[in-house]
Amino acid sequence: MLAPMQMNVQPIPNVSERINEIRQLTAQIVNREILPNEAMLWRSRSGEPLSPADLDDVREVRAHIKETVKQAGLWAPHLPEEYGGAGLDFLELAYMNEILAYAMANTLFGVVAPNSGNQKILVKYGTDAQKEKWLMPLIEGRMESGFSMTEPDQPGSDPRSLKTTARRDGDEWVINGHKWFTSNGLRADFFIVMCRTDDPDGPADRNGKMTQMIVPTDTPGVNIVRGINVWGRNSDHCEIVYDDVRVPVDNQLGRTGTGHQAAQDRLGAGRVYHCMNSIGQMWRAFDLMVERTMVREVHGGLQETKQFIQGFIAESYMDIQAARLMTINCAEKMAADMDARTDISSIKVFVPAAYERVVDRAIQVWGAAGVTGDLPLAAMYQGARTLRLADGPDEVHKILIAKNVLSRYHSGEGWDFGA
Ligand SMILES: Cc1cc2nc3c(=O)[nH]c(=O)nc-3n(C[C@H](O)[C@H](O)[C@H](O)COP(=O)(O)OP(=O)(O)OC[C@H]3O[C@@H](n4cnc5c(N)ncnc54)[C@H](O)[C@@H]3O)c2cc1C
Repeated sequence: MLAPMQMNVQPIPNVSERINEIRQLTAQIVNREILPNEAMLWRSRSGEPLSPADLDDVREVRAHIKETVKQAGLWAPHLPEEYGGAGLDFLELAYMNEILAYAMANTLFGVVAPNSGNQKILVKYGTDAQKEKWLMPLIEGRMESGFSMTEPDQPGSDPRSLKTTARRDGDEWVINGHKWFTSNGLRADFFIVMCRTDDPDGPADRNGKMTQMIVPTDTPGVNIVRGINVWGRNSDHCEIVYDDVRVPVDNQLGRTGTGHQAAQDRLGAGRVYHCMNSIGQMWRAFDLMVERTMVREVHGGLQETKQFIQGFIAESYMDIQAARLMTINCAEKMAADMDARTDISSIKVFVPAAYERVVDRAIQVWGAAGVTGDLPLAAMYQGARTLRLADGPDEVHKILIAKNVLSRYHSGEGWDFGA
């Protein structure tokens, strides 16, 4: 049932040659290797039981695609070359994301959350010994990981409220706390756990008391309570109780008190990448929708001739253009080291909402087929809705936008939309 349409990626004027080259190379892999095999790859992701022969086919196709990605120099685009990555800069990676997300192909390019975020934290904050012990096995696929920050009893939207503690006892940290939504929790070999550390020499503000700890999942006291049921399905987003968990002080990531900053590092650029991913998926939903309107006859005419449906196409076009241009503008400001905090919050609110609207219309056009596992739309819809609360819920970002705007006006200036 999946449409055979290819992603139409042409060179963009006004960006570097390298960005265009990366986009073309990525699109070639998406169009030649991934989309023609998508039905098979999707079946394996949907949890549908597959015969051993089918599973072998899926493994073979995945291995072949990964090899092609490596040969094109695009493997692990988020990592520096010295760690086996493609060494892309921030803008190159942002522009690449919309293309690989079109086919929801991140894992085939070596970008697997939450491992990829943890890899970046380890690259930046890890000691040589931590890199050897945790980062390299993670990159080489010999280990899995999770990021354990959110707690059921405190608002995740205000990370300063976290209650999980790490208490120093000689050469060890002793961790106690209750977390949930630690993604990849069932497969992880270690978690990076956000803890409140009471270091008397550390800075006094509440953010300054947070430190991230590497906790191997087989450490006594790490109790994985359950994989939480999400959107009606079992998941590997785990609830975990840390009960007097002892780790060596060497497992501390960065200096004591830098945990909040490390989490921010993870989120800032990450929000641009997430938004470019959402745009790639909107683009796909749009292609699926428009293509369907050209062949589906309803009430004596093709859908494309009906004005309601033309409205869906026009509104979706505007949503994608607005979301994409806002995100690129934000990325360019960040790349130029300008203050992009208001733009980051704006895209974090606007893009998931636009994504949800576009996918919603595509589902409507496809009718019942739209909510089946035969198309990627249902998964996209759930993903879009989830994005409105993960990584900072809408309301928190709207408050930040308004604060930044108001402080400018209070200081006697207006907002410069040209800057
Ligand atoms: C699928 C999925 C995967 C996740 N993966 C991870 C992971 O790997 N690791 C991890 O640590 N966490 C993870 N999370 C957790 C996620 O980061 C949190 O859910 C998010 O930060 C929101 O926190 P909360 O759920 O505690 O909501 P709360 O903080 O309780 O917020 C609930 C609602 O309160 C409202 N609200 C909050 N603040 C304000 C305000 N100031 N003014 C007005 N209204 C407000 C908003 O409407 C908000 O949606 C994941 C979540 C999901 C759904």
